[in-house]
Amino acid sequence: MTRLLLASRNAKKLAELRRIVAATGVEVIGLDDVPAYEELPEDGATFEANALLKAREAVRQTGLPTIADDSGICVDALNGMPGIFSARWSGRHGDDQANNDLLLAQLKDVPDSRLAAHFACAAAYVDASGREIVVRGEMRGRLLRQPAGEGGFGYDPLFLPDGQRLTAAELSPAEKDAISHRGKAMRALAAQIAHYL
Ligand code: IMP
Repeated sequence: MTRLLLASRNAKKLAELRRIVAATGVEVIGLDDVPAYEELPEDGATFEANALLKAREAVRQTGLPTIADDSGICVDALNGMPGIFSARWSGRHGDDQANNDLLLAQLKDVPDSRLAAHFACAAAYVDASGREIVVRGEMRGRLLRQPAGEGGFGYDPLFLPDGQRLTAAELSPAEKDAISHRGKAMRALAAQIAHYL
């Protein structure tokens, strides 16, 4: 069975990625399953650049075919921010509560009618032969002022996807995958790489 590396340590994101890619029948491993290496700073200017940077470095370090993703939430009223800075918006990388609190505080005076936002995910595939593919998925919706739901991660409790009555944190994992930015990007990528694996 082909081994595919998902270059991520975020357990919840990894679980989402595993669920989506597992359907292709390849064995999916994470960064904790390969010898540790020093990861590069995510200093790209776009989701695509960061996803490629992570995937290229993982291939250089391990030789394994690799998928990496970079994602975030883009708020219209904040000119697309937090965007690529979503994970560290409050200054502490991965502190979901602090990130959500800061985002809500910044939007305090913005009317409800202007709380449109979308999640974006760039997913990159790189292998040792130099093949590189990068795709993007988006999920549009709007922000709520109060968090709701225990599922998902990150900004999910504040995000009401278009066409849904529940936040992304209240949807079941399968329901979220079906409409999410990451689900869309990973399915598009899986379809394109299926015949390389
Ligand atoms: P990354 O690990 O650099 O891709 O950072 C992604 C960050 O964007 C996460 O830490 C979350 O703050 C946010 N994010 C990305 N995707 C989602 C999602 O599906 N739900 C909620 N937050 C997300």
